[in-house]
Amino acid sequence: MYDLIIIGGGPAGLTAGLYTARARLKVVLLEMLAPGGQVLTTDWVENYPGFPDGVSGFELMDKMKTQAEKFGLTIKNEEVTRLDLSGENKVVTTNKGTIETKAVLLTCGATWKKLGIDGEALLAGKGVSYCATCDGPFYTDQKVAVIGGGDTAVEEALFLTRFASHIYVVHRRDQLRAIKLLQERAMAAEKIEFLWDTVPLKIIGNDGVEGIELKNVKTGEIVQRDVQGVFIFIGTQPNTDIVKGQVDLDENGFIITNHHMETSLAGVFAAGDVRAKLFRQIATAVGEGAAASYSIERYLENLE
Ligand code: NAP
Repeated sequence: MYDLIIIGGGPAGLTAGLYTARARLKVVLLEMLAPGGQVLTTDWVENYPGFPDGVSGFELMDKMKTQAEKFGLTIKNEEVTRLDLSGENKVVTTNKGTIETKAVLLTCGATWKKLGIDGEALLAGKGVSYCATCDGPFYTDQKVAVIGGGDTAVEEALFLTRFASHIYVVHRRDQLRAIKLLQERAMAAEKIEFLWDTVPLKIIGNDGVEGIELKNVKTGEIVQRDVQGVFIFIGTQPNTDIVKGQVDLDENGFIITNHHMETSLAGVFAAGDVRAKLFRQIATAVGEGAAASYSIERYLENLE
């Protein structure tokens, strides 16, 4: 019987792992991929405090993992397939077996949203990508399109200027959602061309991306652009299928908590990008992981 099972090894999960292992709880963190979460797909992080020159997403997450393990956190590479959360003891089933715990912390994060247009699924991994850091170098001296106008789209478009010859940033409005600093950098980048008020209709190609069909939502004009890659960054959706019907979710499927990171079920907590909230930053995920740890310790003390 564990005190705590943490599900998901991004910044929130690893921080909670560090705090609770250091507090000598019997805790295990389950992660189906490599610990690090979505930050692993970020080339360079320059707004996480303590790194005045910036740090690579990989290095930052590797340091968080090492620090948590130093205090005794066990990290297991297992996929959670079923959760029974309603009883006082929670039952967690993974691809490797069943474990019981007094408390569960859901830090299962979010995954990239899909556009749902023709060609997207067919060409995924063959020119359609959701990770510029992973796939950018494949597009050296080629033309690519980036879809979206948020921090991720603009940051990744800037990253792609290292490789691609030309980058169309396709945004459905005439103003970016990204912070001003990123906007300024992108506007100054010679290789970046903004296509405002424009939505993608279709990604063209059979064995690889050959082009993209776009529609101007103001004029109705439909045009085609020759590109070899399409990078889609239109936000994220929460990884909450496994808890649907067990804890309260908002209309977009994110887990509702109070400011102690408590969900609607006693003994079940949530932190990081999977939570219903306004800001999704590494720093906020870390803060929530720490806050959840204190709530969990208090919850366990009251059980005794
Ligand atoms: P986001 O902020 O939700 O932005 C999504 C973008 O995609 C928006 O510009 C949106 O357009 C557009 N979009 C959404 N659905 C679309 C559709 N179906 N078709 C076309 N365009 C669509 O997502 P994000 O950029 O991934 O950022 C997620 C969170 O992570 C944010 O809180 C962000 O601040 C944070 N983040 C921070 C950093 C950093 O601090 N360095 C880096 C990356 C992400 P509209 O603008 O019209 O809604």
